[in-house]
Amino acid sequence: MSDPVRKTALAEGGEFDLIRRFLARAPLGDGVRVGPGDDCAVIDGDIAFSTDLSIEGVHFRREWLSPSEIGYRSTAIALSDLAAVAAQPIGVLVSLGCTDADIAEAAEMLMDGVADALRACGASLLGGDLTRSPTALIIDVTVVGRVHKPVLRSGAQPGDSIWVTGRLGAAAAAVRMLQNGRVPGDDARVAFAHPVPRIPEARWLAERSVMHALIDLSDGLLGDIAHIAAASGVAAVIEEGAVPVHPAALRVRGNREQLNLALSGGDDYELCFTAPPGAVEKVQAEFESAFALPLARVGYIEEGSGVRLRSEMGAVDDVIAGGYQHFEENAG
Ligand SMILES: [Mg+2]
Repeated sequence: MSDPVRKTALAEGGEFDLIRRFLARAPLGDGVRVGPGDDCAVIDGDIAFSTDLSIEGVHFRREWLSPSEIGYRSTAIALSDLAAVAAQPIGVLVSLGCTDADIAEAAEMLMDGVADALRACGASLLGGDLTRSPTALIIDVTVVGRVHKPVLRSGAQPGDSIWVTGRLGAAAAAVRMLQNGRVPGDDARVAFAHPVPRIPEARWLAERSVMHALIDLSDGLLGDIAHIAAASGVAAVIEEGAVPVHPAALRVRGNREQLNLALSGGDDYELCFTAPPGAVEKVQAEFESAFALPLARVGYIEEGSGVRLRSEMGAVDDVIAGGYQHFEENAG
């Protein structure tokens, strides 16, 4: 990559406005190829970093997940940010804030879950920190990977198609049911408790130079594509009828609600990328049979800014803060 990307523009919204103010005052010296604002920073030597903080009561509830699931999930979603720049994981640093009861009972099981997530992608535990927390369990996972040509949020071009891997809304359907005191089906629960970072899939697509821009879906398709649009200085149009709604989300009552789970529910950890017209179609069958994972074209990039949602009847609506944001809603 010739020009370093010093800072990447973020989409509008409370959490991101605050981050923007932090970054405006932060120093940025030599050796940084990709600075803050993308899924990972990349420094000289092709090393990618990202960090992800999960707090009990905000990102997970103990009634919903076992300690080993909490450890697995926190690590898998941190690793997903390496997938989001097409990096190969090297290892993680894990910092835990544990109550006295956790240190006695849950902490080892939690770290077993961390180890499961690492083993699944051949990554190592590099270190971390352990401290006492008064009430809530806190787990912070810093991921380190290697990437020569990172695929960034800022590469989308007018005329690109927008693609997603897999089917969306299953984890959000599980959260919705758990919040309502109901028991989610196995497929929804697995999607929530055991997300799979799409690392080999992202590397495969990057090796074939298919993608212009890439992000992982953590906050929901509408919120996350808004980051690609902002970083690339383009507009994104999502076609409602093309969004692959997961069967688990289709079991939730109401067509609009099903679509909302897929568009804005979050926690999918699938890939969302843009590609020039026809590029994905050439490799789609090979990808789908290699990974047993569908690819779906869900919209397109055009000149302008922001995100628009195009209904099956052709009506087009602007999307305002469509994604889930931690500072504006309570997390599931
Ligand atoms: Mg991400």
